[in-house]
Amino acid sequence: MINDILNTFSISEQNPGASDGVQFISTSGAGINSWSPVDGHKIAGVQTVTKAEYDQVITKAQAAFRYWRTVPAPARGEIVRQIGEALRVHKDALGKLVSYEMGKSLQEGRGEVQEMIDICDFAVGLSRQLYGLTMHSERPAHRMYEQWHPLGIVGIISAFNFPVAVWSWNAMIALVCGDVCVWKPSEKTPLSALACFRILTEVFNKNQLPEGLCSLVQGGKDLGEWMAEDPRVALVSATGSTRMGKAVNITVAARLGKCLLELGGNNAIIVSGDADLDMTLMGVVFGAVGTAGQRCTTTRRLIIHESVFGQLTEKLKNAYAQLRIGDPLDARNHVGPLIDKDAVAQYLQALDAIQNEGGTFIVEGGVLEGAEYASGCYVKPCIAVVENHFAIVQTETFAPILYVMQYRDMEEAIAMQNDVPQGLSSAIMTLNLREAELFLSVAGSDCGIANVNIGTSGAEIGGAFGGEKETGGGRESGSDAWKAYMRRQTNTINYGKELPLAQGIAFNI
Ligand code: NAD
Repeated sequence: MINDILNTFSISEQNPGASDGVQFISTSGAGINSWSPVDGHKIAGVQTVTKAEYDQVITKAQAAFRYWRTVPAPARGEIVRQIGEALRVHKDALGKLVSYEMGKSLQEGRGEVQEMIDICDFAVGLSRQLYGLTMHSERPAHRMYEQWHPLGIVGIISAFNFPVAVWSWNAMIALVCGDVCVWKPSEKTPLSALACFRILTEVFNKNQLPEGLCSLVQGGKDLGEWMAEDPRVALVSATGSTRMGKAVNITVAARLGKCLLELGGNNAIIVSGDADLDMTLMGVVFGAVGTAGQRCTTTRRLIIHESVFGQLTEKLKNAYAQLRIGDPLDARNHVGPLIDKDAVAQYLQALDAIQNEGGTFIVEGGVLEGAEYASGCYVKPCIAVVENHFAIVQTETFAPILYVMQYRDMEEAIAMQNDVPQGLSSAIMTLNLREAELFLSVAGSDCGIANVNIGTSGAEIGGAFGGEKETGGGRESGSDAWKAYMRRQTNTINYGKELPLAQGIAFNI
């Protein structure tokens, strides 16, 4: 199956590490191999880019920008529309490759490609908007308005867990805004990125677009650092760990560049005494074990009212006992593998830390063994009773570990929910209007995403996505997130015969 998919995308054993959007450039950096966490097999390798090759790509991107910014935005939208159509054609194959290379379920792999299609549709509509405001000038016969111009090169650094969607959230919006993009995908998922570029190349060539409009460069942390340091990259949009975001932020700030950061989360659901517990169960289990706990919006903490704590934890134990762990390409399984053995080691360290800090397990964790789990990356989703202040609870562990704790009153629950360094996603399960509104109020959740009677994961592209505090403060995708990809210009036009100064200042010559 996977060989057919690799053939579809012309992926061979060793692949070039860069594309300027219309051709794949021969590259000479050291290689990266992509290993599937599903079965532990090496899928294929890519060559990374050297600094000189990276510079070549950036030079092409600069030239492409001079052309692309002059193309009318709706015409840019037409190209994005065609990319969306091409993704529809390849949805199944790309979804399978994502699932095999990253380890998420096939449903989620396909869902990720659907998200790419959705953002293309959104961006096409946006290409006829991108509007600024008109203001009233204080001076007679003057008109004042603002307009939005493209920024230039957008450097996209992405994480392994959404190997294709995060790129499209950035790139499709950036393209309609008139920017050009250079993408450095995660070194753990280089082939999914390559497949996206095979699809993109077809569209670009059909439309005889110039090189450099959207480029792909493969490499590790060093390559990300080159982008962060590079003053030619007008905006660095980086998705990944808080550790990475802090490093990128410091480097970009030192050159007064622009940064858009989408970093780690530590997401909680408050379960009120007035919650619908069946609905809660569904939201919590999918939120905690979906993508094997490797979503930035994964439900990590459950803050449960003391009146329903026993009842809900019993339901959770029963639900966890029914979870099927195994090959994510088999639709009967609920939970696939972690990305690699390093992630498994971090999961095991977290289990130790929970115990050392005094936590107890109501569903035990552990690494699965046997032929079906030969990659060594399959772990058991677990549930631990903890206190919110434990150092391990304050940290994002990218694995299916769910922390449960109790509360007495809603103010206390909200304080616990907010009392972590991260601020991405949050939710409350309640049928009580007062509780729901308090949670959404200024005295409520401090996160970028706050939901009622929905879990923490599974955002739609129509809203702005991102979070506060150590999550980085960036917003991507829908609403007016496009403004981060453009620069605002205020224009004042005098159509009169006098030159009055603002604030009534008299200046006679
Ligand atoms: P990571 O930080 O290890 O790597 C992310 C990317 O950053 C990779 O491409 C990597 O090569 C690059 N990188 C690493 N160090 C760098 C540096 N110093 N300078 C420049 N680039 C650097 O993250 P990961 O393990 O791939 O992904 C998991 C993390 O991503 C989790 O913390 C998760 O919450 C977060 N994430 C956040 C969002 C969001 O939208 N908020 C979405 C997906 C993932």
